[in-house]
Amino acid sequence: MGAAAFVHERPVDVFLIETPEIFAVAAPELPEDQLIRARAERLIRRASAAIIAEEVELVEICSEAPVRYASLFEAIQCAANGDERARKLITADVQTDTGERTIKAGNITEIELTTDEDGNIWQYGQEMDDVYVNALRYAADGWQMRERSEIEARNGTRIKHHNRSGRLNDDYFVAFSCVADNMTTKELQETGFFTDTMSVVIQVTHSNDGVLTTQSAFVAGVKHPEGPRHDIKAVVGVAERFGVDLSGKTSAQILDNPLLIPKELMPNGVLDLVRMYDEAAGGTFFGQDKSIEDYQEYAAFCKRREANFKPKVERIVNELIAEAPTITSPEMATERLGKISAKYMVEMAVQDKTINPDVFGGGAAARIEVARWHVAHGNYEQAAQLTKEAVRVERSSSCPNGKSGVRTEKSFDDVSESGESDTSEGDSGDCEFVSKECPECGAKDVKTVVKKISTTAKRISGSCGCSVTASNG
Ligand SMILES: [Zn+2]
Repeated sequence: MGAAAFVHERPVDVFLIETPEIFAVAAPELPEDQLIRARAERLIRRASAAIIAEEVELVEICSEAPVRYASLFEAIQCAANGDERARKLITADVQTDTGERTIKAGNITEIELTTDEDGNIWQYGQEMDDVYVNALRYAADGWQMRERSEIEARNGTRIKHHNRSGRLNDDYFVAFSCVADNMTTKELQETGFFTDTMSVVIQVTHSNDGVLTTQSAFVAGVKHPEGPRHDIKAVVGVAERFGVDLSGKTSAQILDNPLLIPKELMPNGVLDLVRMYDEAAGGTFFGQDKSIEDYQEYAAFCKRREANFKPKVERIVNELIAEAPTITSPEMATERLGKISAKYMVEMAVQDKTINPDVFGGGAAARIEVARWHVAHGNYEQAAQLTKEAVRVERSSSCPNGKSGVRTEKSFDDVSESGESDTSEGDSGDCEFVSKECPECGAKDVKTVVKKISTTAKRISGSCGCSVTASNG
């Protein structure tokens, strides 16, 4: 009675509540977010629990078709026993890795997830909660990265809750993952961030007939290498369009403030957000200083490009599964995926000029450029030799935001310290090494200098006097 009388006295409020007003909301502002955060805290604490206990049971887990794989490591072991679903999980992981390793900006990807009766979210037999726990256990180095991994676990818990409540049928869950703003450029590079593009990942998750889909757009945070960052400003601008104020927030705070946006406001899904980002950044295309194309057509191009990666993805998966007997820990599984993927991607970059060699680091980039020069002259043997060298010194990482690159990056450092002694790389990013043969005149043991002449072009010159210009991007 009292409540009814109250409503009667406040007709304006009733009107506001009952009108299907369309608006977005920052997830932390919802009353249930407190409960969600407490749940996420339990998940984060799980990551600190003993690791050894799980590994002991491995043989048992793989002896028959398992319900779940706790990590990539387990999936590799099971796939080696002929488990097809485990192979699918590995393939999805490798596909993500190859894309993120080579295309840092100007890409759209999509993954499908399923939900079980308890509302847990899965991808091919791996529960997403385990993905967050693994990231905290095996990848979070340094307090900044640890903080980000915890926020990602929190966002995962938010997605789980809003999916379970049915909200993701009507709303998109949108998270903006900008490059850390509390680390130096050197720290960022050591952690696996690709600082040439400072890419933002815009992640859009929603449900359609019980199938959860996450679309990710990789958008540059700088117009060109070493340019001023426009990512935070642009993300704040996008949120403002939906009535949410993210101004004054750090990268970590923005990641911790995902939006729930009614689907009516984003008829083209993640593409609408990319377009708004480009407008807020002052007329970029996927955050870069490029002429604006049709977004739908570009998304179709991304799909075709991903399909072109498939044969390499298959070879990486085969090689990884063949190594199963010698892979003995989750860390090693991640590291081997990284190394095998890097090898095939360097080889691909020699043939495919749309891949920016800089993603592999200066020493490898210079060798890839010269290898391409050899290929253009039909000197395949020389190109193969340089490709091998490039694989030896390469320093790529698979995640534009550093996360999954952390572990592998360290082991690459060990390799390049011993293997890159014949290369010198100045602060300007110029690179110098001895090339066995000049592609142009055939002179032997040519001192080769690869020099940046603009943000997208390099000049390769040999001590023999030959030279060529290579452009990227
Ligand atoms: Zn020459």
